Amino acid sequence: MKIFDVIVVGAGPGGSAAAYGLAALGFKVALVERKTFPREKLCGGLLSARAQKEFMQIFGENKWPAMVERTAQGASFYYQTRYLNGVHDHQPFFFTSRIHFDACLAALAREAGAYLLEGIVVTSLEADGKAVRLNNGKMLKADFVVGADGVRSRIAEAILLHTASKKNLALGLEIEVPLELTTKTVVDPEIYLGVAKWGYGWIFPKKETQTVGIGGLLTKNPDLKSTFNTFLRQHYGSLPNIRCKGYHLPFGSYKRNPGRANILLVGDAAGLVEPVTGEGIAFAMQSGRLAAKAIVAAAGAGQPESALKYYLREYQSIVSLFSQAKMMRYLVFPDPMQRLFVSLLPHSKGMVRKYLDLLAGEIDYKDYMQLMMKKLGSRIIVAR
Ligand SMILES: Cc1cc2nc3c(=O)[nH]c(=O)nc-3n(C[C@H](O)[C@H](O)[C@H](O)COP(=O)(O)OP(=O)(O)OC[C@H]3O[C@@H](n4cnc5c(N)ncnc54)[C@H](O)[C@@H]3O)c2cc1C
Repeated sequence: MKIFDVIVVGAGPGGSAAAYGLAALGFKVALVERKTFPREKLCGGLLSARAQKEFMQIFGENKWPAMVERTAQGASFYYQTRYLNGVHDHQPFFFTSRIHFDACLAALAREAGAYLLEGIVVTSLEADGKAVRLNNGKMLKADFVVGADGVRSRIAEAILLHTASKKNLALGLEIEVPLELTTKTVVDPEIYLGVAKWGYGWIFPKKETQTVGIGGLLTKNPDLKSTFNTFLRQHYGSLPNIRCKGYHLPFGSYKRNPGRANILLVGDAAGLVEPVTGEGIAFAMQSGRLAAKAIVAAAGAGQPESALKYYLREYQSIVSLFSQAKMMRYLVFPDPMQRLFVSLLPHSKGMVRKYLDLLAGEIDYKDYMQLMMKKLGSRIIVAR
């Protein structure tokens, strides 16, 4: 049996962020990943300014340029096929491909000193929460375990915190359209409301492709595949057979209590996908960083069991943003409210700009909802 200070299960952005921070401080870290890098992870690959800040805080500013394959200066919003509004001189959005991004992050964690075990699956967590079994029959032992194993987290399940209840589980579908197959020009990301229920569609510009996707709550979209086919036909006519891929994401099922004693959940394993935008990479890295910080504090106090207590102190900032976002969902997604929201957008660039500020982490949903109410009020007065 190998003995470490910390076992991190899963080397996505959440796991690599935690492993990097701990290894850089001299902790003996095992970073266990079921796949072998480079590996795919279905994702739009959009990195907001919030993600950029988080990345730079963890891995350093000089590592950032190599992560980005394309930059955009704003976004356009649509309701079904109707253009609503757009802003094209905002703080940038960045685009990456996860096959590259995740491999880089895992490599950075390894360079910092983490022991990266690739192609190895963690099959179970021991009852005392201080050892994991691997699919090669071996066992690893540590004072701390970080569950960074995504939406179907085994670690969350082992401590009876199932990651995403069916009610708040979304499905995302995507294809990559090679630029040579389309005449459609996409400069800034395009967001399409009204195409999936409790979700949206997107077209993101990449270096050699356009990433086209749709995502929405499973319970509200029993046949998302047909909805996606319609969306694709509207924008691309008939396309040659490009393989459509799908993956689940926790969408509104974030954990208020993300772990147990010395076991901490981060990223999708803790349900940390933003309940309106579906952004997950920034919060995976942020929670990975906060978990590392909590482990340092608990180890310093000589009380591994207190890690969750330390983690919760700063994790609250994510919970607070997500609970506001969960309220905002009721103004943006259900049918009558969505029509109202959509009716405001063409008349207000300010609302679009503020929305992008929100994505960058510069304002919160409380500020945004206030602005929305003000706009709504003035529309009602004008209508009278
Ligand atoms: C279609 C779609 C589009 C999206 N687009 C965006 C976007 O544009 N921008 C954005 O910010 N977010 C996006 N997201 C969300 C984002 O992909 C996730 O929130 C993010 O990947 C979470 O990171 P993570 O590290 O928590 O988990 P993951 O990235 O899922 O990584 C988990 C890792 O754990 C490994 N693993 C799992 N089980 C085990 C095990 N038992 N043993 C060992 N290893 C294991 C997996 O192989 C994987 O490498 C999208 C999601 C979907 C589904």
